Amino acid sequence: MTDTKEIYKNLGIDEDVYLLGETICSRLKERFDSIDKTAEYNQLKVLQAMQKAKVSEACLYGTTGYGYNDIGRDTLEEVYANVFHTEAALVRPQITCGTHALALALMSNLRPGDEVLSPVGKPYDTLEEVIGIRPSKGSLAEYGISYSQVNLLSDGSFDYDKIKAAINEKTKLVTIQRSKGYEPRKTLSVEQIGQLIAFIKGIRPDIICMVDNCYGEFVEVIEPSDVGADMVVGSLIKNPGGGLAPIGGYIAGKKECIENAAYRLTSPGLGKEVGASLGVLPSFFQGLFLAPTVVSSALKGAVFAANMMEHFGFSVIPDGKESRHDIIQAVTFGSKEGVIAFCKGIQAAAPVDSFVVPEPWDMPGYDSQVIMAAGAFVSGSSIELSADGPIKPPYAVYFQGGLTFPHAKFGILKAVQELKNSKVIRL
Ligand SMILES: *Cc1c(COP(=O)(O)O)cnc(C)c1O
Repeated sequence: MTDTKEIYKNLGIDEDVYLLGETICSRLKERFDSIDKTAEYNQLKVLQAMQKAKVSEACLYGTTGYGYNDIGRDTLEEVYANVFHTEAALVRPQITCGTHALALALMSNLRPGDEVLSPVGKPYDTLEEVIGIRPSKGSLAEYGISYSQVNLLSDGSFDYDKIKAAINEKTKLVTIQRSKGYEPRKTLSVEQIGQLIAFIKGIRPDIICMVDNCYGEFVEVIEPSDVGADMVVGSLIKNPGGGLAPIGGYIAGKKECIENAAYRLTSPGLGKEVGASLGVLPSFFQGLFLAPTVVSSALKGAVFAANMMEHFGFSVIPDGKESRHDIIQAVTFGSKEGVIAFCKGIQAAAPVDSFVVPEPWDMPGYDSQVIMAAGAFVSGSSIELSADGPIKPPYAVYFQGGLTFPHAKFGILKAVQELKNSKVIRL
């Protein structure tokens, strides 16, 4: 049987759900075309970066022990610097996750007595403990580094007056989070980030501007480092790992900032010279190579999800039409049943653990039960199709990823099917 409708049926999708998906997809052609154009540009940008750095077969081997003269690791870092148009980069499996990369960038570039400013409101949850907003062992606060914060205005724009007032002689670094994370604000465009950096540099050009780039890489044709950021920081189990990197984080930026980070990651005196790449380099190179089209698949999935969910009257951020600056899609169901059904559908569509039924559970660091759907090749990878939602009002789900668009599309159809089966929606 080679009929698409038939194979969907065999996989548990009713004909009415399938046909609705087709109708909505057919309306998104122009949208998808423009996403493909961005992917085309970014694919060439990555390819050019690899050719310029002369990536060779020898770069794929890797080292053990101290990792001296690891040509693959050093070349990969040159490739990242080329992609982000920065002087240098640190890209390592020893950077365990996005939070670690951000903590490293902060701790290595700040000294006791310095202050860090967030001019875009509260940072990502895990950063609260890094900074010491919530008391935590080893936080910046414990080292005598203070923190100040200026919230966005109610329309999502920057509060320039308050930002200016918050900058003082102690302000050493400004941290700007591109993605909304789990905050109910809009994700910042690279252009907006550029305006904010220009404003800050206009007050004090020596302030280090760092951007938390998680979930934003390759969504646009420019990155925050193209508009003045001194450091961009992210996770390899999100966008730039392309679904293949099994671990890792990156920091790209000014040479001095990257050197500071390297001396902190390994040791003063050793810096970038040590750190064996073991066997991960092929996945880092190939993942980066695939990342532009993987991100485009995830973006199409997010746009499709927004339009499907809008059809049933659920509120979605971003909405079905607006421009996108990260790969996250929020859907508010307003009921526990909606959140659970959606996550069950995403799980049931997975290539790994599709037979597992996710349940709401108590999680460390959360004040309510949370349900998570993830059937990923790389544990916890959120460039792979995944969703999670806290079981509390307004009963919203955060959905992201999809290594291929057909998989993301199937995940959404499965979610709609579950919503139908549990009578949250009617077709
Ligand atoms: C995911 C994320 C982080 C933290 O990354 P982990 O790999 O989960 O530690 C930080 N900031 C933002 C905006 C993120 O999306």
